[in-house]
Amino acid sequence: MAESTRSYCQILIGRAMTGLIGLREIFDALAEEGVQLDATNLGPRLLAELKQHNYVPPPAIATYETALVREYRKYLEARASGSVGRRWRDPRKELLSWYPTIFEAKCDGCGECLEVCPRDVLGWDPDHARVLVLEPYECAPGCQLCFRACTRGAIVMPARESLHQRVETPGQGHAASGCAGCRGDCKTCG
Ligand code: SF4
Ligand code: SF4
Repeated sequence: MAESTRSYCQILIGRAMTGLIGLREIFDALAEEGVQLDATNLGPRLLAELKQHNYVPPPAIATYETALVREYRKYLEARASGSVGRRWRDPRKELLSWYPTIFEAKCDGCGECLEVCPRDVLGWDPDHARVLVLEPYECAPGCQLCFRACTRGAIVMPARESLHQRVETPGQGHAASGCAGCRGDCKTCG
């Protein structure tokens, strides 16, 4: 398979959104093989497959494995339920950085933000008892429900002015000064 035809997505690895090539193909192949979450050495196997097309910093191997197993769990759940699951590539959303940032020091783990989010952007990290922004590019442009729900002030959203940066085609943005604002025909957020 040519490199350019492989899927691309960004997932949270540790605390950083990280672009990965070919993850969907890896998951598809393992699922077809019947590999389940309790498979022996699942993390190292996912990592070995990933490293064929991605650079993995040696100090981050354990962090990558944890993130890959988490993503594989979500993939299997979506596959079993017949839902679409992760959207693998939407460059227009990646150019529009509208998603929450959670400040761990202020978060008390109440879970209110998880309750109100209509798009499953946020997820619970049971290992560290904290909320993670797992699917930032599924966040609805302009939505602030989680921000309003958080009484601890632990969530920060981007400035609303960032929504005025219209992106007609991937790779081509309009400067905020040249944008008339959202008139309902924005090709970025619809
Ligand atoms: S609503 Fe705020 S304090 Fe509660 S879990 Fe979410 S980020 Fe943390
Ligand atoms: S802004 Fe809305 S869509 Fe985005 S994470 Fe918060 S509740 Fe979910």
